[in-house]
Amino acid sequence: MNLQNLIRPNIYNLKPYSCARDEFKGKASAYLDANENPLNAPYNRYPDPLQNDLKEKVARLKNIDPEKLFFGNGSDEPIDLVVRIFCEPGVDNIVAIDPTYGMYQVCADINNVEYRKVHLLEDFSLDVDSVLNAVDDRTKIIFMCSPNNPTGNDLNVNDMKKVIQSFNGIVVIDEAYIDFSSRKSFLTELDQYPNLIVLQTFSKAWGMAAIRLGMAFACPEIIGFFNKVKYPYNINLLTQYFVGEEIKKLKRKEDWVEMLVSQREKLIDQLEKLPMVQKVYPTDANFVLVKVNDANATYRYLVEQGIIVRNRNNVSLCLGCLRITVGIPEESTLLIDTLKKMK
Ligand SMILES: *Cc1c(COP(=O)(O)O)cnc(C)c1O
Repeated sequence: MNLQNLIRPNIYNLKPYSCARDEFKGKASAYLDANENPLNAPYNRYPDPLQNDLKEKVARLKNIDPEKLFFGNGSDEPIDLVVRIFCEPGVDNIVAIDPTYGMYQVCADINNVEYRKVHLLEDFSLDVDSVLNAVDDRTKIIFMCSPNNPTGNDLNVNDMKKVIQSFNGIVVIDEAYIDFSSRKSFLTELDQYPNLIVLQTFSKAWGMAAIRLGMAFACPEIIGFFNKVKYPYNINLLTQYFVGEEIKKLKRKEDWVEMLVSQREKLIDQLEKLPMVQKVYPTDANFVLVKVNDANATYRYLVEQGIIVRNRNNVSLCLGCLRITVGIPEESTLLIDTLKKMK
């Protein structure tokens, strides 16, 4: 892989904004460089643009070099950045599995980058040949999501490796739901694949969707381009500090995951017993995709009863399907009891 040939020339040659906090690092007796208010510490100061303290902590947690880590305002930020760094609008294209997470296409559309959808197979497994056949010499990125949203299943690891090995561009594997899966993360494969970007997030298993912190892992060269293009202070001080404290509670996160996975299995059992349910798809995430007799009517009925699920009836290969997040036991009971009462 030659990174220079993949990156948009204007980004490759970009001279990034240099902020006060980039130019001087260390301790000083007076900070008179950034036009900050000298009062109201610590909120008066701009935060560390590269979040070095938090990166060290998270890198230790993930057993990875901090130089291979980028933080974004949710995973949505690195998804957008990867499109903007690699794809020339109106010229380059992206290949992605379908159905999958909606933000890949939204970011492609916003940036006027062609987005090529390749259907998963009927059982939601990866069709490696179709993905590779959709690639041409203007394809810069392939997006795969595993466990996939909204289908819930992990893609086969060897299939994903085949795609990474056979493609001369950037492969993004979105692991937002990896904590709920029994497969190993692709983080351990980063050194082997310089064209791989792995996305993870604090929004799901870690229970911090509100504070907006997503992670991209890649070789230091790619991370350098993320840092060049991002807003200078993309992660605020409160988020940096708060996550630093929360990740000390690793056991609590593991307990949550264990509870949610066991709840997931119970929910699947109960859903399968309902006459209205045609199929519960296998899941490796904290949600289940369920095919019901009448998805629109079931969705509307549940809303009337104050229960909100995601209607995926109009999504490719998901005709008749609802996506249901695994909640606490009381919520599962309420859902099942309510569904039993539907006429
Ligand atoms: C929820 C989700 C994310 C997380 O997005 P954030 O911006 O980090 O909250 C990323 N990818 C997929 C597939 C998701 O479902």
